[in-house]
Amino acid sequence: MLVNYSSSEDEESDGGRKRRRSGDEAEEAACSKRGKPGTRNDQTGDLKKQPSRTNESGTTCQGSPHILPVPTSILEMFQEDSVEQAYSHSSRHGGRIRSFRHERGNWATYVYLPYLAESDFEELADRLISAAGAHGISLTRMADFHISLSQTVVLRHHWIEPFVLSLKEALAPFSRFLCVADRLNVYANQEKTRTFLGLEVTLGQDELVHLVGAVDKTLEAFRLATFYQDPSFHVSLAWCVGDYKERLEGLCAQLQGIVHDSEDGGELTRLWAEDIRCKSGNKVFSFQLH
Ligand code: AMP
Repeated sequence: MLVNYSSSEDEESDGGRKRRRSGDEAEEAACSKRGKPGTRNDQTGDLKKQPSRTNESGTTCQGSPHILPVPTSILEMFQEDSVEQAYSHSSRHGGRIRSFRHERGNWATYVYLPYLAESDFEELADRLISAAGAHGISLTRMADFHISLSQTVVLRHHWIEPFVLSLKEALAPFSRFLCVADRLNVYANQEKTRTFLGLEVTLGQDELVHLVGAVDKTLEAFRLATFYQDPSFHVSLAWCVGDYKERLEGLCAQLQGIVHDSEDGGELTRLWAEDIRCKSGNKVFSFQLH
């Protein structure tokens, strides 16, 4: 377990769902830690101004004098930098419409198999984009290519570490395997606000289903939404805002010809599944399959 990207846009995505467990306790602790001016009214949930005091870590804090200060050991339990940062990653959010409330401490999280594309794969995507453009559909190439193994869910910051440890354990028994993604298909997000042109997996689905089963167990343990019951594993190549599913589906037979002509003995659409990743906010964790 290991690498983290930092990104300028780290807490939004499409298809995200609200986490069902409350993180209020940690938010309260964070409030104490940051010396947030106020304490919560139990009835209304409002923050009311209170006289200030100094807690044991020396932070000036406003609140009821009857409330004991939170011990420093607890306040430091879930510090941001307890998960190290390593390298940066371009955003995959361009133009997306956020479907969960953007709140401090909510981290958009998803699990995926990266497809580290060579330039000829990007060229294939560009050829498909121009062909769709000739029919009046303006697509944008994905910033990165991957096969999703989960939906985007929302984790409170202090659950990232236990979530990642649980995933690590769940994925430990799996071996690497070969995937082929060579059949064009069209996808829409749940809100039908974005349409994706993707290459569907035609070899490796069984192994992907097993991986998703393991990922789903972790999601269930954290009471988060599991993946599609009927997944269609794919590498999204390009996307557009709006519902263009039918129109793009009408072009698929023609576009599939472009994929076929670009194939270099099948190399282009083949990928080894050997590194599963989990992105949570601006952090990326990698789990090597053996
Ligand atoms: P992705 O590139 O993996 O983020 O997928 C693009 C979109 O396809 C996401 O918004 C998914 O919600 C959507 N999608 C629609 N139907 C499916 C399906 N059966 N399996 C996987 N993804 C799907």
